[in-house]
Amino acid sequence: MRYHFPKCDLHLHLDGSFRIETVWRLAKEQGVILPGKTLEEYRQFLIDCSNAESVNQYLKMFDDPIKVMQDPDSLALVTKELILDLQEIGMAYAEIRFAPQLHTRKGMSQAEAVEAVLKGREEGLKECPGLRIGIITCMMSIGPETLNWEANEETVEVCRKYLGKGVVGIDLAGAEGIVPLSNFAPLFAKAKEYGLPMTCHAGDSQDWKTVEDAIAFGVTRIGHGHHIYENPALCRVAAEKGIALEICPTSNIQCKTRESYPLHPAQNLLNMGIPVTINTDNMTLARVNVEDEYDHCLNEMGFEEEDLILMNINSVKASFMPEEDKKVLIAELMTYLES
Ligand SMILES: [Zn+2]
Repeated sequence: MRYHFPKCDLHLHLDGSFRIETVWRLAKEQGVILPGKTLEEYRQFLIDCSNAESVNQYLKMFDDPIKVMQDPDSLALVTKELILDLQEIGMAYAEIRFAPQLHTRKGMSQAEAVEAVLKGREEGLKECPGLRIGIITCMMSIGPETLNWEANEETVEVCRKYLGKGVVGIDLAGAEGIVPLSNFAPLFAKAKEYGLPMTCHAGDSQDWKTVEDAIAFGVTRIGHGHHIYENPALCRVAAEKGIALEICPTSNIQCKTRESYPLHPAQNLLNMGIPVTINTDNMTLARVNVEDEYDHCLNEMGFEEEDLILMNINSVKASFMPEEDKKVLIAELMTYLES
């Protein structure tokens, strides 16, 4: 552990943050063929894919881990192990997100997939007292929005069903730019009607217009959203409304949605008064944890150590955790700010 203040990760995909050995073992047990003849070759395949040409190519890496997480036990195991790994690096809070509709290939319903993840969460937390974990259910953009409209509607319903029981909010993930983001407005309208805390992937491979669309949905956070930077007027709107950006620096570089760490606008966005937060996106596929991201922040992105604490205060405020937990963590972070 290199950073001792309470650390948060608000943008963390379950199917991108698995133990490679576990996915390899589950694949052998289940007869799933992975790329590579050995564990080392599979590891190398993931490294090669992480230097992807685009977000949509990057997304191909998720196919294999998802294939082996089609039964409750596997899904619970991968969740539990991720929580243990978060404890290992001294995290205070993380929101783990996953798309229940991608885990129904062997007959689990979306609700059963959520229950499996919640079971893994419970088992993990038993061994990690002090760590807080929320689960975000993701709707998916996988093609024309009509393709999985009903599955996305079901995700809204299961999110509502398990809200407050470990599930904390809803997201829209998947491929950006296949259809206009605004086509998903009715799903977010339903989520809003139910009072579900909402975030949405936007403004990563696509431009600021998608961030504007997401803000119009009524979300309080944006997954990535850094292309808002190219529209100063919209940046002012985000600052005024306190729309938090879930920035994942390494993922942005790997997906080539930003050229380099020094050219990433995260620090400028923070200076503009936007609640910027620092996250990993995918701990395994991006081969980072938040401490590695903080190193990049300090060494290459122009942030000071104090900014890291301020951005964690942003994370706590923007998080979907209960208000009383927020107060505890903010008070703790404030003591680090003052020392
Ligand atoms: Zn993401």
